[in-house]
Amino acid sequence: MSSQRYKPTIGLEIHCELNTRSKMFCSCLNDAGEKEPNKNVCPVCMGHPGTLPTANQEAIKLVIKTGLAIGSDVLKECKFDRKNYFYPDLPKGYQISQYDLPFCSGGKIDVLDAEGHSKTIRVTRVHLEEDTAKLAHPAGSDHSLVDFNRSSIPLMELVTEPDIETALEARQFAEELQLILRYLNVSDADLEMGKMRVEVNISLSIADAPDKILGTKVEIKNLNSLKAVEGSVAYEIERQLKVIEGGGKIVQETRGWNETKLETFSQRIKEESLDYRYFPEPDLASYRIDDDLLRRIRAEIGELPASKRARFAKEYFLEKQTVEIYVRNRDLGSYFEKAISELANWVKEREMKEDILAEEFAKLCRLCSNYLVSDVLGLLKGRPFVQNEFKVTPENFAEFVTLIHEEEISSKIAKIVLEVMIETGADPSHVIEDRGLAQISDEGELNVIVSQVLEKNGKAVDDYKKGKQNSFQFLVGQILAVSQGKANPQVARAILKKKLDSE
Ligand SMILES: [Zn+2]
Repeated sequence: MSSQRYKPTIGLEIHCELNTRSKMFCSCLNDAGEKEPNKNVCPVCMGHPGTLPTANQEAIKLVIKTGLAIGSDVLKECKFDRKNYFYPDLPKGYQISQYDLPFCSGGKIDVLDAEGHSKTIRVTRVHLEEDTAKLAHPAGSDHSLVDFNRSSIPLMELVTEPDIETALEARQFAEELQLILRYLNVSDADLEMGKMRVEVNISLSIADAPDKILGTKVEIKNLNSLKAVEGSVAYEIERQLKVIEGGGKIVQETRGWNETKLETFSQRIKEESLDYRYFPEPDLASYRIDDDLLRRIRAEIGELPASKRARFAKEYFLEKQTVEIYVRNRDLGSYFEKAISELANWVKEREMKEDILAEEFAKLCRLCSNYLVSDVLGLLKGRPFVQNEFKVTPENFAEFVTLIHEEEISSKIAKIVLEVMIETGADPSHVIEDRGLAQISDEGELNVIVSQVLEKNGKAVDDYKKGKQNSFQFLVGQILAVSQGKANPQVARAILKKKLDSE
């Protein structure tokens, strides 16, 4: 397909329910997960006439916090507006939102393009509004039901510039935003639970048309997973391409995503754009945001994913993919750092030259990380790593790593020790002692094992004498196997060398 001729232009609109205790304009509990219908409701969030809204200050703070984290300008003066439309899930007949003066304007989030290069996606604005109620249509009945638990839950909307060009970039943007919101504790940003909702605007235009006319825009809604975001965009690019190249016309419409068929489908043709008749919300005063408030909010922003990535790569000598595991799993990342700080102390206490110390530390970082990411996560068998539930203390884990590093236990024994540690929380030295896993360093004992191995492997001995260095390693492996991984490799190697050379 000559897709080179056409360039996709993609923008996202993302809604997130904020982590506040109460709703946006009343004191009802903000609990989108409440199963009992209409439990958290009052006259304000049910839109009774004559009620007055009071804006939730915490929600405003969370939106500003998000804006500061992604480099938006926070407007000095902001206001709420009424967005007027009729729908049964909106009892007031309007939604309180923000029109021309949102809390945050501009900003950016970086993603990786298909070649792995960093690409900046600009953010247009971040504003605050209220969620709607939820409709249910019981099967086989002639009526619908309204649940107001969700009505007026604070909802943040973030709109991007149309800088996205591929399905992967769309997914990455949503994923990175999700991570940032979780780091900030602004929102759970769970797509499956509807706490984060992604809408895609997508059109195709001729790549190097001089007038840069954009194609007809199609909207994809109700995407409830990151996979759905990526899949629907990829599908839609191909679909629009086929229509255009077949001589057809793209219709301006809203499409949904069929998870089973993996295709988008038409939901609603947009014949005219709705006029929402926005006007300033008369029941809420406009907002002045002073520098003092901004300073306080800024002080609450901790380390964000992007800076954590850079720091982990630099300080701990880890590969990109490994760093990403720690950035996404904050508990595991924090545990890793605690263990590393123990290891750093351990290295410092040893009398070595500066450059060797640095080298040792880098080795320990990688070793520690390998055991955490492959062995510990492997032993958890898909269960999430939760620091509070993990029985091994970072101190004990660090000690375990030094034992491997010092070759006091082989990798085979290490696996057994680790399993017992995770099960019981015991420290490694105790596990080794209790289970009789201690290393055999006794020369007499090792002499016997080495002699046995030499007897049984005459060919390898001959090969070694003919100059095959691999045979030596093979024989060491045999010694470790016979001793069930317990032979001290250094002592065993020395004995083996002596015996071979003297024969
Ligand atoms: Zn209420």
